[in-house]
Amino acid sequence: MKKILILGGTRDARIIARNLHRSGHDVTTSLAGVTQTPQQPDGKVRIGGFGGFGGARGLGAYLSEQAIDVLIDATHPFAAVISRNAEAAVHMTGVRHLRFERPAWEMQAGDTWIEVENVAAAARVLPQGSRVLVTIGRKEVAPFLKRSDLSGLIRSIEAPDEVLPPGWCVLLERPPFTVEDEIALLRDGGFSSLVSKNSGGDETAAKLVAARHLGVPIVMVRRPVKSGGERVTSVAELAVRLAIFP
Ligand code: NAP
Repeated sequence: MKKILILGGTRDARIIARNLHRSGHDVTTSLAGVTQTPQQPDGKVRIGGFGGFGGARGLGAYLSEQAIDVLIDATHPFAAVISRNAEAAVHMTGVRHLRFERPAWEMQAGDTWIEVENVAAAARVLPQGSRVLVTIGRKEVAPFLKRSDLSGLIRSIEAPDEVLPPGWCVLLERPPFTVEDEIALLRDGGFSSLVSKNSGGDETAAKLVAARHLGVPIVMVRRPVKSGGERVTSVAELAVRLAIFP
């Protein structure tokens, strides 16, 4: 039985927590506390940043105090700061570090992707007067709202903080989404572009199929590079690695 800390906030993290909890490990999931009503993982849960001592040091102190054997970073591919902190914290403490990285989506025949490095660049490349479906979460929508020639819809789990200018509205929805619903949303909303992060995974991939079907171009934000730890790309691979190299 291992004492495991999972850095979570994703569906993958919940699946990992459930599997390891059922296997008899002592599992705690750490959530950032950014959503008001997070979905509860199995096992124990702690909420909020480790920032008392400045991120990495706070996490390092937690790993030592709680005598954690394994740290599993299963945060979202775009949560770059916490993953950097995890890398530094395990460096300080020597705790085993597994980094779960679900594969990125790849462009397929029939897709039109404009790949960009970050959200600000995504807002810059949109053609003048675009009507945009923005699916990048609630936190980084400001660059789109600042462009007075754009209009559209922000779909997120919780509402953005910004006051929306005329021509914009919010749709609060939690994945998974179906291809049929995504086609209806894109078509009926008259969107000329879709903006997405390259999050990977199945839960939100239906929008890619819908955009391909309707010929809607996607502005795709590339992932930040994460490094360190033992990289695993599936829940099954993680289980095997923990079983073979306990
Ligand atoms: P971030 O920019 O990498 O992290 C910002 C700060 O939030 C970190 O420095 C840390 O604070 C705290 N934090 C982040 N994840 C944490 C966790 N699992 N447990 C405890 N503290 C955490 O992260 P973010 O992009 O704001 O994402 C926050 C959470 O939402 C993550 O858990 C991520 O998996 C989830 N999420 C993010 C996205 C996205 O697109 N970014 C999408 C879906 C879910 P301290 O420095 O004080 O420790």
